[in-house]
Amino acid sequence: MSSKQPQEATDAKRSNFIRAIVAEDVLSGKWGGRVVTRFPPEPNGYLHIGHAKSICLNFGIAQEFKGHCNLRFDDTNPTKEDVEYVDSIQEDVHWLGFDWGKRRYYASDYFEKLYQYAEALVMRGLAYVDSQSAEAIRASRGTLTEPGENSPYRERSVEENLDLFRRMRAGEFEDGACVLRAKIDMASPNVLMRDPTLYRIRRTAHHRTGTAWVIYPMYDFTHCLSDSIEGVTHSLCTLEFENNRELYDWVLDALEVYHPQQTEFARLNLTYTVMSKRRLIQLVQEGCVSGWDDPRMPTICGLRRRGYPPEAIRDFCERIGVAKADNMVDYAMLEHCVRERLNDVAPRYMAVLNPIKLTIANYPEGQTEAFEFPNHPEKPEEGSRKVPFSRVLYVERDDFREEAPRKWFRLAPGREVRLRYAYYVTCKEVVKNEAGDVVEIICEYDPESRGGASPDGRKVKGALHWVSAEHARTAEVRLYDRLFTQENPMNVPEGKTFMDCINPESLTTIQAYVEPALGDLPPGARVQFERIGYFCMDKEDATPEAPVFNRTATLRDTWARVERSQQQS
Ligand code: ATP
Ligand code: MG
Repeated sequence: MSSKQPQEATDAKRSNFIRAIVAEDVLSGKWGGRVVTRFPPEPNGYLHIGHAKSICLNFGIAQEFKGHCNLRFDDTNPTKEDVEYVDSIQEDVHWLGFDWGKRRYYASDYFEKLYQYAEALVMRGLAYVDSQSAEAIRASRGTLTEPGENSPYRERSVEENLDLFRRMRAGEFEDGACVLRAKIDMASPNVLMRDPTLYRIRRTAHHRTGTAWVIYPMYDFTHCLSDSIEGVTHSLCTLEFENNRELYDWVLDALEVYHPQQTEFARLNLTYTVMSKRRLIQLVQEGCVSGWDDPRMPTICGLRRRGYPPEAIRDFCERIGVAKADNMVDYAMLEHCVRERLNDVAPRYMAVLNPIKLTIANYPEGQTEAFEFPNHPEKPEEGSRKVPFSRVLYVERDDFREEAPRKWFRLAPGREVRLRYAYYVTCKEVVKNEAGDVVEIICEYDPESRGGASPDGRKVKGALHWVSAEHARTAEVRLYDRLFTQENPMNVPEGKTFMDCINPESLTTIQAYVEPALGDLPPGARVQFERIGYFCMDKEDATPEAPVFNRTATLRDTWARVERSQQQS
């Protein structure tokens, strides 16, 4: 596995071979100086982070070279497609920060044109109607080492083919009764060139064309012609389409139409993630996650709900670069981009996730004061807010130890710490329950340290976050973690599948105490809980009465530590 570090990634940007090709074409005037790309999703699922790479590449190239990028729905399979997906795809592309303007197209808009092209191929003697069964066609295709066999229907006359194809369109045949195939070469070393199917019969209503059609064009026929119809110059697709390029070129050459250039690049693979829509659908359908937008999903809507900013995703796509060979990118790299962005923009708040009560014995009962907190320590322009303070507070249980080593700078009997922006407090005693657990910490404060300033130059190292018990709001906090325990969930022992390596601890839900202002944030707001991590107000489940926060990321990469300790042990 290779994982990219930021430096390597900067180099990748410079050497992005697709940028280089486009730049050269612009310079040489190959396409009349035009640059037209397209992002061609099939509306059969929600977009994922892999699609984000393709979106950033296609829209990015168009922007950079003052061209256009079309959004084209590759909607030729009526059985799997749905408007729900069409809508979500548009929302996701917009959210990522890209706009297709008026250039939104559907392959289904070209059905009539595509049909005419198919008839043209028939008339040129380059396509024929095959009445063999699907199994027979598959069985005669040959293998990688053996050539295929010609269909007994291969030599039908142009007239007969035309008549049959028109009757296919007219609905005279049942599903599977026949297909239209290109007449290329059953002995081609490229299996895709062995008389590929161009049209099949599907008596299924289409989400846009309704029941107008009972025959539907195949991907390889549709894609190149859609590119051609739209005047695309650079048709950028992932490596698995390398073998399809020969067919892409064949169709356009056979019809003597405008011919864009297909170029392949490596698809994004991420550690601890499955990416294909088929598998993501399985996770949703089998209830492993709450839906497509579950914050553990690598879908764009999942990442959005998790709190990942679009800028961070764009930055990530830029840093991973575009290569010609497949590789695996470390999930930590994506998280790094998220932390970097959120560190810059997320306002800071205090929340106590695992609370223990702290009472300040010498603080007047019933008294409340408010301390001024900057919203962002490095950005005074972000302003400040008032945080209420009182005699009884909650602090993080992990910030207290009854038996503490010398270099423990947080709370312990006899030790002094600073409560952020408030006061110095010293632990005087503890209260235990019957089981012997500490349930309350009793402190005394130094009134001279108001605002957290040292009264006499004496220093304390620890600065703890806190919330006032009387003023705190309770919030549900969802601690999300990676969905899979294996670096490559697709590479599991025999007899197992990716479903067997789902992380049982990918979601832990807790009740936390948060400072009052956090309860009033709008859905989707991204914040830092000081000393804990980045969180986002959930868009679906939070209400003004009951805030819900999703953990976007921890402050540091905790997985790196786990992995290192696993390597060492
Ligand atoms: P999946 O395999 O995840 O189901 P797909 O390739 O079937 O995805 P499409 O809707 O056909 O999904 O993809 C639209 C575009 O996004 C295509 O150009 C495809 O090459 C690109 N794409 C899909 N997955 C990735 C990926 N992991 N990395 C980069 N580009 C991708
Ligand atoms: Mg596809």
